[in-house]
Amino acid sequence: MGELGGKTALVTGSTSGIGFGVARGFAKAGANVVLNGFGDAGEIEALRAELDATSEGAVSYDGADMTKPDEIEAMVQGAVARHGAVDILVNNAGIQIVSPIDEFPIDGWDRIIAINMNSAFHTARAALPGMKAKGWGRIINIASAHGLVASPFKSAYVTAKHGIVGMTKTVALEVAEAGITCNAICPGYVLTPLVERQIPDTAKARGITEDQVKRDVLLAAQWTKKFVTVEQLSGVANFLCSDAAENITGIALPVDGGWTAA
Ligand code: NAD
Repeated sequence: MGELGGKTALVTGSTSGIGFGVARGFAKAGANVVLNGFGDAGEIEALRAELDATSEGAVSYDGADMTKPDEIEAMVQGAVARHGAVDILVNNAGIQIVSPIDEFPIDGWDRIIAINMNSAFHTARAALPGMKAKGWGRIINIASAHGLVASPFKSAYVTAKHGIVGMTKTVALEVAEAGITCNAICPGYVLTPLVERQIPDTAKARGITEDQVKRDVLLAAQWTKKFVTVEQLSGVANFLCSDAAENITGIALPVDGGWTAA
């Protein structure tokens, strides 16, 4: 049996990028996995089938919108109904909008706060009673280096990511004696669709070329001069679910090539 055999992991925003990589790592370790996120129905089914073939457990999909608390609650209940539990919860769904604050679209601000921060409250609220009953649980919040430091033109994102780091610490203390840990992973830049999409906007906001954005903005603070990879983040997530990490709780773990050390 894989090291996560018999466990069920729900990963929000896992039809793409980091979330899919983390879900794939859990599937390889033998967990049941619930995928979530938007996209083309056929492509999502192909991703689900790929992971289902990888895992000794079962892989399902729920299209709940992370801006909708009732859909989030139904997603957690559906996961329990299908797989028996939600043992591992990864709050990963996220979006980005790059804009000066005085031009920031109001609905965009609200969407970022809802998806990148509030959804983690709604998932944890729904999943924690089951974890407490079993005396075991892992909550992993995919925050960001922007949960620890700021960059200009990302006010809503930086606000939400700092917020989720605070929520991580609070939840960790509340459930510390229940066999449940809650940690945040704070990645530097990973070349996923989320980052690819913001390159043109950043170029516009700063009046530079897209190549200059990659070299002089994205990797400027990453001392390794390398993008973080999805596989590295998946490895960290699996580690946080291991027995070795039982006493690691309430941390905001930078995986950022030294960015927040400077
Ligand atoms: P991505 O755009 O590749 O994936 C985002 C996922 O979230 C997709 O599956 C998308 O369908 C889903 N999603 C978006 N809105 C949703 C909603 N309303 N309801 C449900 N699902 C929704 O992005 P990514 O780079 O993989 O980012 C994943 C997380 O990692 C985000 O929280 C992001 O802030 C964080 N992060 C990314 C980087 C990076 O450099 N890529 C760095 C630090 C942190």
